[in-house]
Amino acid sequence: MAELPGSIREAGDLLRARRATAVELAEVAIERAGVDPYNAWLLVSAEQARAQARAADERIASGDASPLCGIPWACKDIIGTKGVETTAGSKILDGYVPPYSATVVERLEAAGAVMIGKTNLDEFAMGSSNENSAFGPVKNPWDTSRVPGGSSGGSAVAVAAGEVCFGLGTDTGGSIRQPAALSGVAGMKPTYGRVSRYGVVAFASSLDQVGPFGRTVEDIALVCQALFGVDPADATTMPLPSEDLCRDLERGVKGMRLGVPREYFVKGIEPGVERAVRAAIRELERQGATLLDVSLPSTDHALGVYYIVQPAEASANLARYDGVRYGLRVEGPDLVGTYKATRGAGFGPEVKRRMILGTYALSTGYYDAYYVKAQKVRTVIKKEFDDVFARVDALVTPTSPTVAFGIGAKTNDPLAMYLNDVFTLPVNIAGLPGISIPCGVSEGLPVGLQVIAASYQEATMFRVAAAYERATEHHRMRPPAARAA
Ligand code: GLN
Repeated sequence: MAELPGSIREAGDLLRARRATAVELAEVAIERAGVDPYNAWLLVSAEQARAQARAADERIASGDASPLCGIPWACKDIIGTKGVETTAGSKILDGYVPPYSATVVERLEAAGAVMIGKTNLDEFAMGSSNENSAFGPVKNPWDTSRVPGGSSGGSAVAVAAGEVCFGLGTDTGGSIRQPAALSGVAGMKPTYGRVSRYGVVAFASSLDQVGPFGRTVEDIALVCQALFGVDPADATTMPLPSEDLCRDLERGVKGMRLGVPREYFVKGIEPGVERAVRAAIRELERQGATLLDVSLPSTDHALGVYYIVQPAEASANLARYDGVRYGLRVEGPDLVGTYKATRGAGFGPEVKRRMILGTYALSTGYYDAYYVKAQKVRTVIKKEFDDVFARVDALVTPTSPTVAFGIGAKTNDPLAMYLNDVFTLPVNIAGLPGISIPCGVSEGLPVGLQVIAASYQEATMFRVAAAYERATEHHRMRPPAARAA
């Protein structure tokens, strides 16, 4: 076997028909990851992958039909993995080997999935381009002079280039959906509280959520099925009855009401992106959905809220890296000197910028003016979404205002970089689920359609995305570089 099957579903069918073994799939993935030309991988855990694949083959031989059994996947390196180095893309965690795995990793292991290794990311998931990784940027397989998006760029590219069947990322302001859009795959952020954050390196705890990358909406739903559920180790997970997330995939959108928020089609969106997204929305209308022009008037303030709340939480979360408890230690003249030397050497410039911003927003005198006010506006943003969801079943928007931009194009302009997330971060602020799926190309580069649903309505969101996917071929697009490889 030279290539992995195109989806989890296809791979699973091959395995259960005994036309391939999990060990064979793992060997293909290990080899592809080992020669990956995009810098998508930080570590390939080949021996562990082989052992997991052998165990999966035994399970399949004894009749196990769980959909993820034997399927190779890629893990963003901000998710803790027992016995496998976890860096969060930072020098400060250099050499850190977690003594336990994140709940999401344990759940995938229990489902029989085979982890191939750890993927590159922006340091501590702070970024939209992967250029903030301490281990070099990831390249976009559609055009290697361009970024793949971020921060989960490594997992997005590993899926886009066919090196694994699915990947995990984390999404605090768009870090799954935006790289999915820019790399031409599907990527999804669950409702806040759906998925355990236990064992995931914390960035901004009220916004962070783990979610999958995949080739198809069904694959995304299958991974979510394994990830979702309450975890006693994470008090923010919701105890909800389990549900079949694939139940509405075939239902189509006839009779559904889809909102098109006018604030998501504004100046600054590239004409080619707008064209592809508008065409996608027309396709959903053609299938019988009713489109509603809706307004989310505070959308403009979402970026401001995000860049107060997120750095504030990050500055608190990152206080723990002190040269004593984890990874890197640079000796100073005394204890405080060691803290300073370690943090000065260990953190990159973007991480330092966020900690300074966050500490400032939380300091006496500014706390009320910035942090408290941002929390109030956050409540307004959430309420506007709630009001709209009383009238519509889902929202359809662009995922990102642009296609993949050039490596280096925005590195000296943090604000331009932050603006790339205008359409994704309101979803995190409101705690909602969102998915990005491929909906065409502009100038030869992929464009993403975002579908947003009300809290815990992932099945409805999948229903819309699957209806679009079924009628189009965009999810079958492959990057030219990966085709040539
Ligand atoms: N790009 C956004 C940021 O830099 C979002 C990152 C994320 O979702 N982890 O914060």
